Amino acid sequence: MKEPYDLVIIGSGAAGGILAKRAVEQGMNVAMLEAGPLRDKNKDFPYHQPFPYEDPYRKPKESVDLSKYLFVKNADEPYTAPQDKPFTWTRARNVGGRTLFWGRRCLRFNEWDFKGRSRDGQGEDWPISYQEIAPYYDLVEQFIGVTGVVENHPDVPDGKFLPPVALKCGDHIIKRACEKMGIRVIYDRRAMLTRAHGGFAKCHFCSACDKGCETDSFFNSAYRVIVPLQKKYPNNFTLISNAMARAINVDDRGLAKSVSYIDKRTGADREITGRAIAVAAGCLESTRLLLLSKSSRFPNGLANSSGQVGKNFIEHLTVGVRGYLTDISFAKPYDGDGIGSTHINIPWFGWDRPKNSFNFVRGYQIELGSAGFRLRLDKDPKGIPGFGADFKREVRRWYGTTMNLKAFAEMLPHPDNFVELDPKVVDKWGLPVLKIQISAHENELAMTKHIYETLEEIFHHAKGVELRKGPYIPGDSIHEMGTCRMGSDPKSSVLNRFQQAHDVKNLFVVDAASFTSGSHKNPTLTIMALAWRTGDYIVEEMKKGNL
Ligand SMILES: Cc1cc2nc3c(=O)[nH]c(=O)nc-3n(C[C@H](O)[C@H](O)[C@H](O)COP(=O)(O)OP(=O)(O)OC[C@H]3O[C@@H](n4cnc5c(N)ncnc54)[C@H](O)[C@@H]3O)c2cc1C
Ligand code: SF4
Repeated sequence: MKEPYDLVIIGSGAAGGILAKRAVEQGMNVAMLEAGPLRDKNKDFPYHQPFPYEDPYRKPKESVDLSKYLFVKNADEPYTAPQDKPFTWTRARNVGGRTLFWGRRCLRFNEWDFKGRSRDGQGEDWPISYQEIAPYYDLVEQFIGVTGVVENHPDVPDGKFLPPVALKCGDHIIKRACEKMGIRVIYDRRAMLTRAHGGFAKCHFCSACDKGCETDSFFNSAYRVIVPLQKKYPNNFTLISNAMARAINVDDRGLAKSVSYIDKRTGADREITGRAIAVAAGCLESTRLLLLSKSSRFPNGLANSSGQVGKNFIEHLTVGVRGYLTDISFAKPYDGDGIGSTHINIPWFGWDRPKNSFNFVRGYQIELGSAGFRLRLDKDPKGIPGFGADFKREVRRWYGTTMNLKAFAEMLPHPDNFVELDPKVVDKWGLPVLKIQISAHENELAMTKHIYETLEEIFHHAKGVELRKGPYIPGDSIHEMGTCRMGSDPKSSVLNRFQQAHDVKNLFVVDAASFTSGSHKNPTLTIMALAWRTGDYIVEEMKKGNL
């Protein structure tokens, strides 16, 4: 009989995984509730499909229907959004959460990302500084393995990197184009093993990460954290899969005492007790769980005396331009091996420009995507008209030339951007679903214009053709943040600087719901650094008898 557990963690993705690691390794008795199953990576993922040359019709690799695993629409778990503001909420229900499918880009927030308000008066400053979190970035990078190069770029602090991979043709072309515009480009930083690391094999460059990795050469919480913890610590780590948390319960003192959850295999309602509870269900699901956890003490939802749970919703504004690089047309076959997609990143270049160069605050970074030998559909040989020599020439013209430049821009919090429970719609278990509302406002619209101009100029210098703009699709970034933000003032924030609820001292929210602002950098490295820090804090506080 292990109950009460020292710590009950809800969710097994990036946040839950790292928190569990820190707590379990330091001797705590931890239970983890995860709404999905543990996937069998060899059965569930169509790993190693035939390469085009192995296929009798030489067709490009099929893109796999991931919707079973990574879904937006789901009859069991719907959500709503205003009709004129649709939102795309991409979720996963399995051990490891979305880290089984993520793009693995790992950029540190810099000093000013944590102190935006001090810089430009917008939003709020974080209650922590870059200096405080830097040691945890180091620890996470060393644990997960991040490829990259020390570049001394003002936007992205350097870290502890594994060796980089050589640039591809498309990378060189875009890099040269950017240099003509005075924009610095860096080697991509991704959680991929470019040499054997931590007992896991080096990436063998098959470029099929979204179909599962036989060798676990990219970081994912399931096989790099949870399964190893189960094996190494069978006595103090318990994973309960297919367990959908539906409420966090409090005792007479207003402390969190247990989690009620649904056993999805049987439909049974169960309860698990803990000395501390950590919510790591992914930003929006964590927020929904707090809002669902109403009691006489917390009639507006748990830890919501400020009324801030669900407010300050931010994501990244994503807009892009795609085209074809004519310099690669008719190129001789070249070694395009690597860690999937392209191997460079374009950090925010505003730091190198005079103040007042822009009519907006904050910035954006640009990620590159190149289809390589997976041709875009309209340039698929089947879609190219012609016959014989003419046809072959056209195929060679377009083959592997696709380039997609996609900017991720910081969004400011806005009173119109929030989530709340929708009392009119319930999920399979009769619980109110989340209503999600977000749209771009003045600053984001000014940034969008600037992004399009910049991306088109890059393509111009790169001799790109057939350019197409991609609009902002709310939710497309898959970087939801900020609905239970950290802050020093309990009236305007939900959590303190250790992701601990101001209202309930043994309750923690360890995912991106805690972010005070979103920067323009992918959030997961920061999620993990914060979870690591909070794990150490919880252990210390328990040792001191404060929890
Ligand atoms: C295609 C794709 C590309 C991405 N690329 C990048 C990238 O390059 N860089 C980057 O930084 N980020 C990227 N992301 C985002 C990244 O995956 C997330 O930021 C990260 O996984 C968030 O971790 P998390 O632990 O907060 O949530 P998740 O990984 O979503 O894990 C949450 C877990 O909680 C479980 N859960 C939810 N509700 C409950 C409940 N009520 N009870 C029990 N369990 C519950 C879920 O089943 C899930 O397993 C990408 C995401 C996708 C899908
Ligand atoms: S490219 Fe590397 S990390 Fe991705 S699936 Fe292949 S071996 Fe694994």
